[in-house]
Formats: sequence, structure tokens, C-alpha cells
Amino acid sequence: MSRLHAPLDDAEPATCGGTIRRYLRRYRFHPPESRSYERTFQLLWCSDCRTYATQTVHVPRATVLPNPLADLAVEVRETLERKELALVKHLDRMARRGQL
Ligand SMILES: [Zn+2]
Repeated sequence: MSRLHAPLDDAEPATCGGTIRRYLRRYRFHPPESRSYERTFQLLWCSDCRTYATQTVHVPRATVLPNPLADLAVEVRETLERKELALVKHLDRMARRGQL
């Protein structure tokens, strides 16, 4: 969470007051029988200063996670899910178009 609104070298205090956007990872990292099943990652970023951070969040077992990347070709989606910065850029474009 420390990177949001902060320059990458952390040399200066945060001065950005941009809106923080969120994206809940659609997939779960742990199998259903695991006690950690309800833990997943949330990606947070700021559209103005282009910083981002990930955070572990608790999502109840019964909650179906939405997939805003569902319309993409499988290869494109897999690439985005591997490259966090590319994913942030993509999600930010979607958010600016009102698609998120
Ligand atoms: Zn910012």
C-alpha cells in the first residue's frame, strides 16, 4: 500500500490527491478446501500519478468475483494478468471509458 501517490524512490512526500481506483482479482489463489480460500488480491491505483499497489482482501466464499477482462482474447488476458503494470494501464483505460 505504500506506493500509492508516492514517487517510486519514495524521496518526496506524496502530493497527489487523485482518485484511487480498485480492481478485485477475479480468481482465487487457494483451492476451495483451503482456509485461505477467501483471501484474494485487490489492485489499487491512481489515475493521476500512475502509482499502484496490491493488497490482500477477504472475499466471502459465496461472492462471485466479476471479470472485467472477460471480453478479451485469452492470450491478451493472460499477458495482462502476468504483467501488473500493463494490467493497471488497461484497467485505467476501461475506468476512464466508464467500463469498469
Ligand atoms: Zn495519485
